[in-house]
Amino acid sequence: MKIDLRKIYRFEAISHPTDTPLPTGGDIYYECTECTHVVSSVPHIVSRCECGNLEGKQGKVEIKDAAKVKPVRGKLK
Ligand SMILES: [Zn+2]
Repeated sequence: MKIDLRKIYRFEAISHPTDTPLPTGGDIYYECTECTHVVSSVPHIVSRCECGNLEGKQGKVEIKDAAKVKPVRGKLK
């Protein structure tokens, strides 16, 4: 099942030094800059972005190319 998180949340960019691990948290999401899909940083359900760069399940996201990931904070609309 595909959920468009942008319909539920408003996303704001987080300042993040590129040489540190990506932040994680209940309100942190990863935007794939390749396909613009957004995936939760702590996904409870299997979720992946359109191009396959981000693949999440069981509370963890596997990232193929970290240079194409932008961490964002989600706020309920
Ligand atoms: Zn992608």
